[in-house]
Amino acid sequence: MRRLIAGNWKMNGLASSLAEIAALRELTGKAACDIVVCPPFTLIDRAVERAKDSKLAIGAQDCHAQQSGAHTGDVSAEMLANIGARYVILGHSERRLSHGEDDEIVLAKAIAAHRAGLIAILCVGETRHERDEGRAIEVVGGQLRESIPERATSADLVIAYEPVWAIGTGLVPTNEQIEEVHAAIRQILEERLGSDGRSVKILYGGSVKASNAQAIFGLRNVDGALVGGASLKASEFAGIISAAV
Ligand code: PGA
Repeated sequence: MRRLIAGNWKMNGLASSLAEIAALRELTGKAACDIVVCPPFTLIDRAVERAKDSKLAIGAQDCHAQQSGAHTGDVSAEMLANIGARYVILGHSERRLSHGEDDEIVLAKAIAAHRAGLIAILCVGETRHERDEGRAIEVVGGQLRESIPERATSADLVIAYEPVWAIGTGLVPTNEQIEEVHAAIRQILEERLGSDGRSVKILYGGSVKASNAQAIFGLRNVDGALVGGASLKASEFAGIISAAV
């Protein structure tokens, strides 16, 4: 399966950061994987402009479940598609924790993303406490079962397994832990989507860097990465991209 490397800039990036998009654009022509960068809302329009006529896709980090209306401060999936975004990250643990997003909200947003023609990158992952209690698979499985839209296909759905305790901490699960969770995710995808579930990309996310990417990409059922901090600098992100052969 062709790998996908997704960069999540989170709440980082000013106009000057568009230079990183220009640098990445050069790389995508030669890359053996698909690449998407998700800058903050304020830069999406101009990032799409910079990435025009290249294989670099631009995405968002969230969307509202409604198409339009009285939702001050929110942005709909239709608005994102309208300015050329192709992907949207949904259910990131930072949104689950700081915005109270539960599986029901994530499902509604994923349905909205699909209605607008966007590819949803659906994030799941356990906390440190849940892992210590031996509940990682149960938690991830529950999140997936509750938030995958009924009509999802491998063309509009990507799953990102991001253990909360590995995000921005420099901690990475063992190879066995990653493979165990990814295998469980694959099984649920096959239950839900039938044989098409085998073609849904499952990304690993949490402290991925150029120095550990190759080892992570060698694991079973790891089809790419969702990268936070290391996606902010084109040179570091390029190292991850080149590991994804
Ligand atoms: P990190 O973040 O790569 O900085 O750990 C990953 C993410 O939150 O998507």
